[in-house]
Amino acid sequence: MAEIRFEGVDKHYGKVEAIKNLNFVCEDKDFFAILGPSGCGKSSTLRMLAGLEDITSGSLYIGGRRVNDVKPSERNVAMSFENFGLYPHFTVYENLAYPLTVKKMNKADIREKVLVIAQEMQLTSILNYMPGSLSNGQKQRVSIARALVRNPDVTIMDEPLSHLDAELRGYMRHKIKHTHRALGLTTVYVTHDQVEAMTMADKILIMNHGVIQQLGTPDEVYFNPANEFVAGFIGTPQMNFIACSIQSEGTAVSLINPYGLKVVLSDEQKHMLGGHAGPVKLGVRPHNIQMFTEKTSGRLMTGEVYIVEPLGETNIITIKVGDIQIKAETEPSFKPKLNDTVYFDISSDKCHLFDGNTGKAFF
Ligand code: ADP
Ligand code: MG
Repeated sequence: MAEIRFEGVDKHYGKVEAIKNLNFVCEDKDFFAILGPSGCGKSSTLRMLAGLEDITSGSLYIGGRRVNDVKPSERNVAMSFENFGLYPHFTVYENLAYPLTVKKMNKADIREKVLVIAQEMQLTSILNYMPGSLSNGQKQRVSIARALVRNPDVTIMDEPLSHLDAELRGYMRHKIKHTHRALGLTTVYVTHDQVEAMTMADKILIMNHGVIQQLGTPDEVYFNPANEFVAGFIGTPQMNFIACSIQSEGTAVSLINPYGLKVVLSDEQKHMLGGHAGPVKLGVRPHNIQMFTEKTSGRLMTGEVYIVEPLGETNIITIKVGDIQIKAETEPSFKPKLNDTVYFDISSDKCHLFDGNTGKAFF
């Protein structure tokens, strides 16, 4: 069992409070992604897990054992880092064999394990090379293979694909995910790339400024973001945020803005809004905006085409509405020209609503 539990963990570097009150559980055999922008505390979290960094306060458990004071070598945590960490005077084969040699496994078993992982990671043809002669992409794969070869309780990876080109990155995403499943690993995977987190992980922990924003499955963080930060971080193109005020007419409650927006809330949405009457932000993903070239209904908002980005399957149209910009994802046949006037509507059942002050989601 390799359940990982952070309980009230803080990490300070001198006066820098890098991690604040980290509480989460990564379950045995989970592929667990830690996602957030640069500097949010991802590597610090991972380094505490590996035992490379002291824990300022709180407790860390691996498999039910408190490991705050357990040495890295006694944790059975295997790592692959952004800067590879390969032994420069060992061949690729020797780098892969090393963690097994340390475990005093016999030579034939080591050879078998190394050849299997080398095959998985497409390293067979370079097993006799020295790290210095490898491309960054190859070094990265050796580093990942070395982390996986020894069947660790926990495998941790810190931005392992950041040096690879787009094609190899896609390939390695599949490989790592497949290997995780095939070997029954517990993997903690740090990335700033939401696509990596969404496509690979069972659970995603989203952090910002050293504070957990949300922990959930890819579906949960995408469809039910806990706050404006998560909503804006997950999904491309990014969700639109539109500052609104709340208007009550009889029993009807609507979101309005000075540019003609009016979204009438459903009974369920009204319930989730509670009695809140302060400023709010409407959140709507670009593909939930309908665009028209003609004003066919009284409720449409009007904008002016600012940028058209054709992507083949869809177009991303940025429109200016007063002093805000809104992105919509449309059918490829919808191709307005720059500065054209267009009309749009928002699916109210697809919209999100956030507290304008705290960013917390109502729905
Ligand atoms: P991430 O991996 O998400 O980019 P880090 O965990 O590396 O974030 O860093 C979190 C915060 O802690 C940042 O503000 C960073 O500058 C600071 N930090 C990280 N390592 C050190 C260190 N050794 N000394 C001082 N500050 C550090
Ligand atoms: Mg980092």
